[in-house]
Amino acid sequence: SESLLHVENLKKYYPITGGKFGRVSETVRAVDGVSFSVREGETLGIVGESGCGKSTTGRMIMRLIEPTEGKIVFQNRDLMNLSKKEMRKARKDIQMIFQDPFASLNPRHTVEHIIEEPMIVHHIGDRKQRKARVEELLELVGLSSYHAKRYPHQFSGGQRQRIGIARALAVRPKVIIADEPVSALDVSVQSQVLNLLKDLQEKFHLTYIFIAHDLSVVRHISDRVGVMYLGKLVELSESEQLYDDPKHPYTKALLSSVPVPNPNVQTERMILQGDVPSPAHPPAGCSFHDRCPFAMDICSKERPHLKKLEDGRLVSCHLYD
Ligand code: SF4
Ligand code: MG
Repeated sequence: SESLLHVENLKKYYPITGGKFGRVSETVRAVDGVSFSVREGETLGIVGESGCGKSTTGRMIMRLIEPTEGKIVFQNRDLMNLSKKEMRKARKDIQMIFQDPFASLNPRHTVEHIIEEPMIVHHIGDRKQRKARVEELLELVGLSSYHAKRYPHQFSGGQRQRIGIARALAVRPKVIIADEPVSALDVSVQSQVLNLLKDLQEKFHLTYIFIAHDLSVVRHISDRVGVMYLGKLVELSESEQLYDDPKHPYTKALLSSVPVPNPNVQTERMILQGDVPSPAHPPAGCSFHDRCPFAMDICSKERPHLKKLEDGRLVSCHLYD
């Protein structure tokens, strides 16, 4: 179906000031030219190690972080052209769920107040209608009206994430950006919350951008997956293709059960060496080259660009030139 949300050449550069006169001495390219579109009703997973720019990308879509450059087209309107006031209104349609529900829920507010708040902000309903809606939302996420007068600390991590989801749904958004919504939860609770998100998506025809640092988390919820490395998308494809036959060496590494051909050893698991380089000093050429077991001469000299393979997927790697 049609693309509902589209980002183009999205960038976030942070200047680092240093030296005697506080001059700008370095630039951190946290997000460095990311483009993708999200179709209505689908889930796009965005995966990468911490510091790759995935959360920044999610927050820029809502302009919670102001992009340095780029387009954010939602329902044929570039959100970058909106005033602050117009942008606040637009956020009704795009809501966010955060990794740490404990940090994102005000500990002094009752659950009722927490879930009601976005409706107050967006002038939805009168007090009585909002209360009824809170009860409905609590039921929807597997809690009950009996929980309304309680405080966040009285809930488990999984329940708190359900409260965060109820709050995000309160204003009937079209898109939900979920930033590592299950990363802080026990594995058994993770699948419950993922199932809940999947059910809610079907019920309300929601579109998700699902951010995670682990490919296994987004596997069953994503229709397509984008892999980010050092501020850039390095691969983007349908989930099935990506998990069955990853193309980019970094994607292969993330799915580290994939054996890597090596003439000396029969099979070798590809384990990533080293840390992600600093985005203030990305390596020249392909920014993955000093960790890549397939690196060739060209890789340290020329930066690969995202290009479309015959099967439609996008990969940024000289192996596919
Ligand atoms: Fe590895 Fe070269 Fe591909 Fe980069 S461009 S991922 S270094 S093979
Ligand atoms: Mg993050």
